[in-house]
Amino acid sequence: DKYRTISSRLADPRTIASEQEAAALVRNGKTIVSISCSIHSNEIVASQMSMNLAYELATATDPRTVEILDNTILLLIPSANPDGIDMVAEWYRKTLGTKSEGTVPPQLYHHYAGHDNNRDWFMLNLAETQAITKLYWQEWFPQIVYDVHQMGQNGPRFVIPPFYDPPNPRIDPSIVRDVGLVGYKMAADLQAAGVKGVATNTTFDMWWHGGFRTAPYYHNSIGILSEAASADLMTPVTITNERLKATGRVRGLNSPLEAVISHPDPWTGGVWRPRDIANVEMIASRSILEMAAKYRERFLGNFYNIGKANLEKRAGEPQAFIIGAGQPRSENIARLIEILTWQGVEVHQMTHELWVKHDQNRNELHEMPLGSFLVFVNQPKKNNVLSLFERQVYPNRINQDGTPDPPYDVAGWTLPLQMGIEVETVWDIRDMEKMRPTLRPVTTIDQARAVMNLGPAGGAFGKLSNPLRAPARVGIYQGAMGSMDEGWTRLVLDNHQIDYTSVTDQQMRSGALEYDVLVLPSTGEAGMIRGLSADRYPDDVAGGIGEAGVQNLKRFVENGGRLVCFEASCGLVMKTFELPIKNVLAGVRRSDFYNPGSIVKLEVDTKHELARGVLEETPAYFTNSSAFEVADEGKVRTIAKYAMRDALLSGWMLGETLINGKAALVETDFGKGQIVLFAFRPQHRGQTYATFPFIFNALEKR
Ligand SMILES: [Zn+2]
Repeated sequence: DKYRTISSRLADPRTIASEQEAAALVRNGKTIVSISCSIHSNEIVASQMSMNLAYELATATDPRTVEILDNTILLLIPSANPDGIDMVAEWYRKTLGTKSEGTVPPQLYHHYAGHDNNRDWFMLNLAETQAITKLYWQEWFPQIVYDVHQMGQNGPRFVIPPFYDPPNPRIDPSIVRDVGLVGYKMAADLQAAGVKGVATNTTFDMWWHGGFRTAPYYHNSIGILSEAASADLMTPVTITNERLKATGRVRGLNSPLEAVISHPDPWTGGVWRPRDIANVEMIASRSILEMAAKYRERFLGNFYNIGKANLEKRAGEPQAFIIGAGQPRSENIARLIEILTWQGVEVHQMTHELWVKHDQNRNELHEMPLGSFLVFVNQPKKNNVLSLFERQVYPNRINQDGTPDPPYDVAGWTLPLQMGIEVETVWDIRDMEKMRPTLRPVTTIDQARAVMNLGPAGGAFGKLSNPLRAPARVGIYQGAMGSMDEGWTRLVLDNHQIDYTSVTDQQMRSGALEYDVLVLPSTGEAGMIRGLSADRYPDDVAGGIGEAGVQNLKRFVENGGRLVCFEASCGLVMKTFELPIKNVLAGVRRSDFYNPGSIVKLEVDTKHELARGVLEETPAYFTNSSAFEVADEGKVRTIAKYAMRDALLSGWMLGETLINGKAALVETDFGKGQIVLFAFRPQHRGQTYATFPFIFNALEKR
């Protein structure tokens, strides 16, 4: 408790009276380090390694281990998704010695998110993210977080920091430097141990917020990622030199065989065992712990200094963000406030109106009513506040050949936009010091709910009320390939207490589709029709929906069913049903159009029943999505279009004119039924509350 208290006080410099007191806390504290293993359950070795690490630390008495134990506290998470580890282990044991040995299980290894379980670190949709966020940013405030992963088999053996460009301008530059410092220490220790094929400055960047090792940057902490080359789960593999030669360029590294400053000692091929992976991960873990021990005061001091500097206003930063009272969607506002406060952002309830300056360059004041919620920028978690509220402007990074340099993950994520909530940026508040006593900190979510006349939440991240007036019988296609988009669809429906049935490949093939509405989450044509290959998977999961499934889909709609398609699944349906709709982005080169994950503006026909509860202009999420051109407007109704101009709200988009005014959501009749096509994902990662109503409306009986 003593060390936890020290860490939490250093995290909030307002709890420390003087620099002398701060210096004493730094002197008496321990560096809090967390190592999290195998959040991606098929990247299985780190979980196994974690037990050896724990054993070594618990039993070794050599001076280096003692130094670690004396100066650090390790929060070791053997698995950030234990159910997934069980799933993978069971599948591996069951398939040992068969054609399926070493394959990934034929289902998502996280109930809702699969691999996307590491895309949730600002949104907190998942129980695991909520639990670890609480552990980190409410209780222990680790100065260093190390997230241990594996990647494909044919690249370098081990990728570690420093990372690749770009750094997000909302990450403190000293964090960027310290991530590099720790990374180089790891690299040097690995080299000293004779490990070949360690690469830095490649592939992974420091732009996006929502990953295990990236979220800590916005909490003033150091986040480290390592990616080891994989074996076949726990089965060794042989990687030939030819295979490495054939491996293409990635950002920052032309070839795994090329010796460069960031990769001075290439691995040239051979047998690669889980034991090798455990070995490099063990060296890396000890390296970080040793660094954390030796430079304990430096890491604690810098952690405190960043938080302290965040309390001061910097040029070009607003004073606050205000979530204005009187707007619809109070449930969304309550959820946003819960997400913010859970990760340690301070939110205030306004018990009195305030006069505020909205426009940075004009001195006009506007009134914000009582009942609004205010988030100050100058708080210890300033970088988190800014990166969640501001619109992201991704740097225009174009390669010499004119193609965009893709970010590692998405380019924009502004939370209030995604949730359909209006937020005012405030540059000045009149009589701030006089008005301060009228602000009441939000300490429980029920306090915020009461302000908006909402009943108590019934526990953390409680379920939301079912929005359907006349619920249809809903089926959701769940292929054996495991689709994250399918999982997120279930999450949104479960969170809103909407009933549905999962529909397997076999059911699609057999045609037993007793539903009013069938949802096809975003899945490509080949994946849906062919599914898992019978070469590697048993018959009961191989084969996809097949041609029979496609014909059954057709019969389903002809007989009066409604088929609802998200993004990638639209292509198959447009082709099968010969709809007069085309995706104008199909076949377009990246140099002509590119949007790797941004918030865009839709113009909505609010008279249409699918648009009930949606604003005339609404943000929506676009990530390598589609844009429709409708050839027969008499047959196909357009419910939402990409805005005619300024469609980009947050992120990065090249060649916007290609989608301006093109359809984003359409509906057409077919036989006795209907087909609803979303060019985008209205439930992307469970984050896009702004476009959830489109889905709910599509699940109503008509
Ligand atoms: Zn991973």
